[in-house]
Formats: sequence, structure tokens, C-alpha cells
Amino acid sequence: MKIKNLSQVLEGQPKYRYAQINKFLFQDYISDWSEASSLPKKLREELSLECPLEIRADILKVPGDKKTNKALIYLEDGASVETVLIRQKAEKGKSADYQEEIDLKDKRAFRNTICISSQIGCALGCSFCATGENGFLRNLNSAEIVEQIVFWQRFLKKENKQEKVDNVVFMGMGEPFLNYPEFIKAVKFINNPETLNIGARRLSVSTAGITEGIKKIAGEKLQINLAVSLHATTDSLRQKLMPIAKKYSLADIFKAVDDYIKKTGRRVMFEYLMIKGVNDSQKDAENLILLMKRPLYLLNLIPYNPTGRFQPSSRETIDNFKSTLERAGVAVTVRLSFGSEISAACGQLKKNMFK
Ligand code: SF4
Repeated sequence: MKIKNLSQVLEGQPKYRYAQINKFLFQDYISDWSEASSLPKKLREELSLECPLEIRADILKVPGDKKTNKALIYLEDGASVETVLIRQKAEKGKSADYQEEIDLKDKRAFRNTICISSQIGCALGCSFCATGENGFLRNLNSAEIVEQIVFWQRFLKKENKQEKVDNVVFMGMGEPFLNYPEFIKAVKFINNPETLNIGARRLSVSTAGITEGIKKIAGEKLQINLAVSLHATTDSLRQKLMPIAKKYSLADIFKAVDDYIKKTGRRVMFEYLMIKGVNDSQKDAENLILLMKRPLYLLNLIPYNPTGRFQPSSRETIDNFKSTLERAGVAVTVRLSFGSEISAACGQLKKNMFK
């Protein structure tokens, strides 16, 4: 989709054309200007030439798995970015992961969460993550971030006019806070009632603990959900798993999070991958109790999807770990993990599928 010439094409047109076009592109999700029937024919022809709407992408579907789809979107410079759609059967009144309470009047069968990328590759090189293994190529610009959502909205519309993207999580490739200006520009565009109009409460950003980003987002007056990748209860283990932890200690991160909570009054989710024999012992659970028993802290245990180097904790270990924490009064959930079959689960993007 190339719409950077839009203002040029619309020069001399009445002001209301922008609103009309925003609606066509970001609410009706047209994929060809011929669908913009209320625009004059000559303008449509010019737009088709100057602002083609095609999004080139490959979709990976797994036979028998209706829940997860992964797409590789090709960008103008030849680079490509991965994004994932996760479909969850709606359970009335229940909140799953980052979702707000489900609207009971909404009769759709699925809730659609998309996981989007903010960079191509990632420079942080976490040892459990497939994205990090491939290094960093470049930041995405805000248009390239938004394009991932438009892509899935078009995909869902084609399938069934009722379906739409419900939640957007910045948990794909890259560290969003290391691309803060484009990330926040995209968030504001996604949230804008005149464009994509997705409520900030339905947006979530996950950071490896970049404290400058946590401070900045606290000042944005946006109700976006914040998640912090914790994965270890000591700086030494965290540094082994996530090299960026050498720069940001746990004490620095908790200080930034506490300031964020003070300023926003919003809950913060701590993500904790359960890796067999690495961070899933009784001692780890005890350490977590000390760290997590604070108001508005929520711990999310994530079953690890193997990327080759580590093994996942067993279901039994996760259940016992969770019970220990619950008994001590920690707010804790276990994430339902989808998509491991197609390398579309957390920390697995860009793992050989398209090479
Ligand atoms: S887990 Fe996140 S921050 Fe770490 S290497 Fe992967 S994409 Fe980057």
C-alpha cells in the first residue's frame, strides 16, 4: 500500500475528501480504489495510479488449525515483516490475556488478536528468542506498522463482514521502545476515531525493560496496556537470558514501573516464560512472590515454545508454580499459547519458515 502521494493527489479537492478517504481505507478496508464508489471516477483513476492499495503478502495457514495465521508482508524496499493473527473462541464475560471484558451484546464467535512487529529483526538478542537470533535489520516506520493491521482487517472482512481485529499487541519482531517515535505515531493513528479507531485499552505493548520507554509511555495520557518481559528473578540470570539486562537492572525496571503506576493508575503485566530447569524452581517462585506482591502488578506465566536452545517447563511444573504464587497472594495467570505449530508464538517470529 503506497499512500504517501495522497496529499499531492488530493490537492485542490474539497477538505471532506480526506475524511471520506480515511473511512474507505481504515474503516471499510477497501483493497482497490474501484470500491470507493462515492469518489469521482477521475479521482479514483488517479488514486489507482499514484496510491496503489495492494499489500503484497504470503499467508501461512496450517491445515486443521483455524486459530492462528501468520503473514509475511513485503515492504517497498524488498524487506519483509512478520505478523500473526490469533483467533480465540469467545467466552462470554471472560477476559483472556490482555482483552478487556467481552461485550455481551457482541455475538461474534471469535475474538481476533493480532501480534504486530515494530522492527525488522531485533538487536537485543535474547537467548530464548528466534527473532533475536537473526539480528537487526531496520526500524519500521509508522505506516509499515499500521499496514499490518490493515492487512488483517482486510483478511477478516473477506472472510466474514462481521469479523474485525479486537486487540493489537506489539509483541512481534523488535523492541517497540527502541523505535519509540514511529511506535507512538502508529499507536495514535490506530487509536484515532477518524482512522482505525481501535480503543487504547485494546492495545498492548511489551518491552524488554527499556526504562526510558516506560517513562515516556507513562506521560502519553493513553490507556494502552504495558507488559514487561521479566523472565528471571535475579539480575544475573536475567543477564544470561537477555543481554539488555546488563544495561537495565531489575531495580531500575521496578522503579520505572512503580512511577508508571503512580502516574497512570494502570495495571502492569510482567511476562515470565517458563523454561525447564532455568527459571521454574521453587526458589524462583519464592523470589517472584517477593517481587510481585504489589498492587497493580499482574504476573503472566507463558509456556515456553521451544526454539531449539531450551525446553519448556512441564504442565505440572507450571500448575504447581502458579499455585505457590496464588497461595501467597500474587495476581497470576497462565497465557494460552497459540501458534507454536507455525512458529508464530511468542519469541518465534522469523524462525526459518520463510527462508
Ligand atoms: S524477545 Fe523481544 S526483545 Fe528479546 S530478542 Fe526477541 S524480539 Fe528482541
